[in-house]
Amino acid sequence: MIAENLREIETEIQAVCSRCGRNRSDVTLIAVSKTKPLEMVEEAAACGIRDFGENYPQELKEKAETIKDQVRWHQIGHLQRNKVKYIIDKVCLIHSVDSLRLAQQINAEAEKRGLICDILIEVNIAEEESKFGVTRETVYPLLEEISGLANIRVKGLMTIAPYVENPEENRIHFRNLHNLSVDIKSKNIDNVTMNELSMGMTGDYQVAIEEGATMIRVGTGIFGARDYSR
Ligand SMILES: *Cc1c(COP(=O)(O)O)cnc(C)c1O
Repeated sequence: MIAENLREIETEIQAVCSRCGRNRSDVTLIAVSKTKPLEMVEEAAACGIRDFGENYPQELKEKAETIKDQVRWHQIGHLQRNKVKYIIDKVCLIHSVDSLRLAQQINAEAEKRGLICDILIEVNIAEEESKFGVTRETVYPLLEEISGLANIRVKGLMTIAPYVENPEENRIHFRNLHNLSVDIKSKNIDNVTMNELSMGMTGDYQVAIEEGATMIRVGTGIFGARDYSR
């Protein structure tokens, strides 16, 4: 099932890229394996997937310590400060930084281990009450503060778009995030580059690619529906 799902999604990504004039290599497919057993991660890895996304730090840590394949781990879910220590030396990128205090904690843990940690800033682009993330206005002062932290590099922005029936409804949000990243880039802030845009999930990744996503996070479309009861 996973192999077949991946084949379909890969075909779709290539079709979208060619229709909007982008290179396939400019879009990274992150397989979101939260709640799914390690065997399913290994199955996807055997199909060539190298990037995996997790929400829960302990789950990421366990999988990262157990898996034999050479893969990259992405922390994509909300991160509490006291959990940073579990994942700091296991992740290639933390997508969900939305406060100075969290950034300071990441910086401190990275410094302890002699690492530089790559992060994205999570933006609540649709300004939904229920979502984490900074606003379009508060992202600037946050970036100014983070740019002074020696063990962090900001690589771009991430958003979780609203849950919608019709993915076209999210086009405006993806476009707004892209425009925000272009504006931030023009400010040339120290330690801040804006080459990554993490946006688009199972329901709307095609639209996200059309609007400039460099990383799409697909869970259900690869691994099937999640069961949170266990
Ligand atoms: C769970 C999750 C995803 C994947 O969602 P699907 O709809 O299953 O593709 C992507 N991003 C984040 C932040 C998530 O928590």
